Amino acid sequence: MNKKIAVPVDEVGMLDAHFGHCKFFELFDVENDKIVQQEKVVPPPHEPGVLPKWLADKGVTDVIAGGMGAKAIQIFNYNNVNVFVGAPKLSAEELGKGFLEKTIQFTTTVSVNLFHFMEKYFDQNVMLVDCDVEEPNDLLFFAEPEKISKKQTYLLIPEIDTDKCTFCKKCSDWCEFNAITIVKNLSFAKVNPDLCHSCGACIVACNFDAITEYEQPLGVVAHYSTGIGSGLVEGRLKIGSAMQTSLIKEVKKEVQHHENLIIFDAPPGTSCPVVETVVDADYVILVTEPTPFGVHDLKITVR
Ligand code: SF4
Ligand code: SF4
Repeated sequence: MNKKIAVPVDEVGMLDAHFGHCKFFELFDVENDKIVQQEKVVPPPHEPGVLPKWLADKGVTDVIAGGMGAKAIQIFNYNNVNVFVGAPKLSAEELGKGFLEKTIQFTTTVSVNLFHFMEKYFDQNVMLVDCDVEEPNDLLFFAEPEKISKKQTYLLIPEIDTDKCTFCKKCSDWCEFNAITIVKNLSFAKVNPDLCHSCGACIVACNFDAITEYEQPLGVVAHYSTGIGSGLVEGRLKIGSAMQTSLIKEVKKEVQHHENLIIFDAPPGTSCPVVETVVDADYVILVTEPTPFGVHDLKITVR
């Protein structure tokens, strides 16, 4: 079967998450599930509704995107063009090939669709919570979200006062994350903030009152009105931070008093941020890609 796939891309050919403002589109002509021709085209200036119509006129049958407004999706659907949103940030070639081989995982769409569905059929106060704090993208699916609140969150990082410290090493022995270095001969005592998980164990361990804490930015928790239910809450981790789990905890604190249905969109994988997201859920829906790697991770998650 013949198809024409369009992918919005940036200057270096990677997926551009901002569909409406991308610089180029990579178009792939497909015959019998094989790419037979590829072309890079410059879209017309952005105006509401222009791009879907322009791509449909070019014969595009399928669009792969990071995110897209509801109106653009409607226009595509009206023109019989399939839209696949929630694609990962890969090159256009990887996305085109992966799409045909069915190895691309369009993660976010399940949570966002569930949000729409639950609001429509079951619960007017359903809330969507994006816990993929390294790369939150649920918001891209809503045409005109309005920010209700925004909160900067912090980690408390210990600091050792070398005037009070006896260099006994008790704090570094208690630190599960090897974040503390003590060198008695050099009177050196330091905490590595990149390794510290802000657990507070070292402060409890120290008998000499040598440790205090300071605030280090962790990320932002924001609540948006989306025109659906109680809206969307997302966490956005500070670039360079590896403390996803800490920010997910902050995001959950923000929604702890919401008494109706909450849909948590978890990050991909099987590691601690996923566990933190699902730990107190009543039901979990697992989404995987149809590859040996996907099934391997799926089994780990189920166990
Ligand atoms: S707060 Fe916890 S993780 Fe951080 S340095 Fe102290 S013991 Fe280690
Ligand atoms: S436990 Fe307290 S006194 Fe001992 S090395 Fe750590 S900071 Fe210094």
